[in-house]
Amino acid sequence: MRIIDFHAHLDDRWLHKPIPDASRMIEAMDRFGVDQTCVYTMMGFYAETARNNDLLLERARRYPDRLIPFVTVDPKLGSEAVDELERCLEQPEFRGVKFHPWLQAFASSMLEETMTAILKVAARERTPILFHDGTPPYSTTFQIAELARWVPEAKVFLGHAGSADYVDPAARLIRDIPNLYGCYCGSRPGDLVHLVETAGAEKITFGSDFDPGSWELLAERLDNTVEAGLSPEALEAVLWRNAERILRPPSR
Ligand SMILES: [Zn+2]
Repeated sequence: MRIIDFHAHLDDRWLHKPIPDASRMIEAMDRFGVDQTCVYTMMGFYAETARNNDLLLERARRYPDRLIPFVTVDPKLGSEAVDELERCLEQPEFRGVKFHPWLQAFASSMLEETMTAILKVAARERTPILFHDGTPPYSTTFQIAELARWVPEAKVFLGHAGSADYVDPAARLIRDIPNLYGCYCGSRPGDLVHLVETAGAEKITFGSDFDPGSWELLAERLDNTVEAGLSPEALEAVLWRNAERILRPPSR
């Protein structure tokens, strides 16, 4: 079965901690049968967003068939952030957008104008937008779900589908908001079945969060997904079919 990992980080470090480079990531993907991985920055959440977008693109371009970079911008910069998003999305390799409001230190509710503009650009460019969710102060599942209501044509992902504490509200919100999706990445093993039964298999993708935590995450989270007891059709949807349908189409 094909596998697309919808949530991973590719960078040279997370603050003081080195994280695996692209060749190590490819090794891990080969070992566990992952065909493609969506990769996000780490350090770009803190500073020098444009430079980090360029670095991520450069790293991902070494493995164009395997790595799919997502752009990030700093919405605190207002229209500059929208310009940076437009600049990056001119590169066809960027097939999604990622935000981490907690690390990036912004409350969407205080930046409604900029976030609405960003969501509209993403919708026009057909890129999904994935947000870290499940943690206060700026990334509760409820705050992220609210964003999906602002621009119904944008495809918004709860990047951790509620994480450990908010899986049930996440499942209901994904069910009730047509353009809200969930990445099963960090919730507990049994939670996948609940998410799929409540929200529908077509709205959930698999993600590992490789590798700011530890590199065993990929093996563990893949195992939790494959062994969850889903029907073959639902498992296929979660492991790759949804990701392929929702990502911005690759350029020909
Ligand atoms: Zn992450």
